[in-house]
Amino acid sequence: MAKLNLVPEDDPILSKDVKASGKLTKKQKRSLSSMVKKMDDLPHAIALAANQVGFDDLRAFVYRSGDKVCTVLDPVIRWSSLQDPDEILEGANGEAIPKSSTQWEGCLSCPDKEYLVIRPTMIKVEFTSESGARKRDTLFDLAARIFCHEMDHLDGVLIKNVSRQSRDPQVEEPIEATSPMLFRVPKSA
Ligand SMILES: [Zn+2]
Repeated sequence: MAKLNLVPEDDPILSKDVKASGKLTKKQKRSLSSMVKKMDDLPHAIALAANQVGFDDLRAFVYRSGDKVCTVLDPVIRWSSLQDPDEILEGANGEAIPKSSTQWEGCLSCPDKEYLVIRPTMIKVEFTSESGARKRDTLFDLAARIFCHEMDHLDGVLIKNVSRQSRDPQVEEPIEATSPMLFRVPKSA
């Protein structure tokens, strides 16, 4: 299997809306497996969308969960806390939860800067898992942020297109532990 490479930041495939895959062909299954394998080369990456490595016929992303790399195919966001401003979000102890959070994000596809991005704190999603079953789930905070970041990739949107503020991670203060940083490419020595 040919080795996968990240496409460059200006590659038009990154601005392309990737169509739903449906039932995968053998070739698409191989592409998905090669994305899982590619995560071994990217130990600091949390997730990777298919078009970031040149597949425009696969609406899928992979993400790291502990030691495992999981796959998400044909993801859909059914509800987002940003869409419904009147609904009150309640935490496990009845506390009010803000509906959005703004954090610095990094991206393998725009590696030189970090971007401030607003995301919902809660989303309800549907996707096809590696078993082929269609699943529904509710995601919060960092998991919701990762899912939205990868969905944006598959819709042809990069964080630099949705953010009004960027910064150079080489110059700025390191991000506090309370601001999780996603998908950051480690600076090579
Ligand atoms: Zn990204």
